[in-house]
Amino acid sequence: MTSEANTPVLRNCIRLPLAEDELLEVTAKAKDYAIMHGAAMRSKTAFSPDSLNFAPFVLVPSSFPRKEFEKAVALQPIINRLMHNVAHDEEFITTTLAETIKVDEFTANLFNIYRKVLAHGFTQKISLGMLRSDLMLESGCPELSPRAFRSKAGADEATGTAAAAAATIAVDGTEIGTAAGGTAEEKNKKEMAVAAEQRAKNDRKDCRELQLSQATKEQKMDAAAKSIQSAYCCWKQVEINTIASGFGHLGPASKTIQRFVLSELGHADKLKNMPQNNALAGLCDGMVKAWDIYARPNAVILFIIEDVSYNICDQRFHEFYIRETYPHIKVLRRTLSDVHREGKLGLNKELLLGQQEVAVIYFRAGYEPGHYHSQAEWDARYLMETSLAIKCPSIHYHLAGTKKVQQALAQPAVLERFINDPEEIKAVGKIFTGLYSLDDNEAGNASYEMALKTPEKFVLKPQREGGGNNVYGVDIPDALKRMSRVERSAWILMDLIHPPLTKGYMVRPGAEMPPQIVDMVSELGIFGVVIGDADHIVHNYQAGHMLRTKLSTANEGGVAAGLGALDSPYLIDSDDEEEQ
Ligand code: ADP
Ligand code: MG
Repeated sequence: MTSEANTPVLRNCIRLPLAEDELLEVTAKAKDYAIMHGAAMRSKTAFSPDSLNFAPFVLVPSSFPRKEFEKAVALQPIINRLMHNVAHDEEFITTTLAETIKVDEFTANLFNIYRKVLAHGFTQKISLGMLRSDLMLESGCPELSPRAFRSKAGADEATGTAAAAAATIAVDGTEIGTAAGGTAEEKNKKEMAVAAEQRAKNDRKDCRELQLSQATKEQKMDAAAKSIQSAYCCWKQVEINTIASGFGHLGPASKTIQRFVLSELGHADKLKNMPQNNALAGLCDGMVKAWDIYARPNAVILFIIEDVSYNICDQRFHEFYIRETYPHIKVLRRTLSDVHREGKLGLNKELLLGQQEVAVIYFRAGYEPGHYHSQAEWDARYLMETSLAIKCPSIHYHLAGTKKVQQALAQPAVLERFINDPEEIKAVGKIFTGLYSLDDNEAGNASYEMALKTPEKFVLKPQREGGGNNVYGVDIPDALKRMSRVERSAWILMDLIHPPLTKGYMVRPGAEMPPQIVDMVSELGIFGVVIGDADHIVHNYQAGHMLRTKLSTANEGGVAAGLGALDSPYLIDSDDEEEQ
């Protein structure tokens, strides 16, 4: 993915670049700090269960507009409720996935489990949802776009004026330099001011609020006057995860590293702009609330894990948090194959692993075909699904998190089926970017033609999780042409989101020191916990966040995959002072 030349740049939380000796020292310290605070992973290239590498991280936090962050946090309980209702709408799930399961074997296998469970009735009516709604800022947002320069009249307008003066210089350095006349001394002063401004500008490495290099000067002035809006690009949902929503530990851990770095660099005053993040506690408490509902004092919480867990800290910290905070609750870790070997149902359909009864199952695996080596793992999934244990996710929650369901939810009037409040419908509706079906019908064929014509505007997604499965931009036509008309219905098409850039240092194990300043884009994930059955929601809350940042040239930013890095948001307001 390449960013367009006129992609806006969010200003930095501190002035970069750092002096080289300072950068070397603080980076070395931060690496050790990361390992020693569990911001770490097992190496894929030199795997050893006995050692950890620090996880790639961004040295100082990336900026994120405060209002948009707060909006995302406030919206999460509504999204939780939406997903809970979707998961319990048998007709919607069935019709939405009808075409997909004809051609997508993995989704069809999940759906078969769902169908069988429906036929026999749910043994456990309560589900535990631990969701993560992923989003990116959209710099080309129609309502606020600095590209469209559309003005939104209202109270914001006045606040924009102060920022306008500063931003005019920032977006157009010629303003001071072209001011003519005055005495020689005045001229001198002006020249010095221009030079100083120029130096400062270089120092900032274009990290001011917005760089609108392709806009005309008039447009730039207009943009500056509207900076209150353009700085606050709206955000769009990338996807919603209902299974194995990771980074409950690494989210808060990222903040811990960056808080340390900012303090070391003498910027402790900035820490107030890093929002609290209690994701680990929020998610683990969710599991414990489900455990309480199950109400069997000797029953355990079971984590379903991959054969090899590279992202081990993000699972063990959950386990350790539960063990330390609630020592009476035991946690077990088992693969799907283990469950097939050891698991059986008791008289009341309780899941038993040996003699241990399982109250809650937390799936950190089971979301991709590679986790099911044979029918044995599918049988294990079915066994758990028919058991009395409370699942995170239960099969209907898993299906509700498919890309196909996300695409269906974004269609006009569909939200009304799940949300009553018109204001909430409006708020949720705004987070969807264009999502298009590729089913073999008139609408699907029109999307197909659209994708062939302007592929650079889209991303093509299959029904998979875990990264590395999507097709981007110019690669789309070939991918589509290789598919039959029916095969296309396993995929959806989505508008590409164009996030603003940030500039900073990405620190990776084994990479050259000191790190260089790079262009990056971020993706914010907001966690939500929801517990209930088809008729009642008993718990529903927002549970912290995580920020992942990748090189702006990368399509995807999986941290373990190598292009992404741990980050955390530094909240900015449009009228903040320049970084110092
Ligand atoms: P997965 O389930 O594999 O995580 P996602 O839908 O989250 O699939 O896509 C993976 C990554 O691809 C995202 O984290 C994001 O970096 C990028 N991506 C996905 N959709 C878009 C989009 N519409 N615009 C820009 N980038 C996207
Ligand atoms: Mg994702």
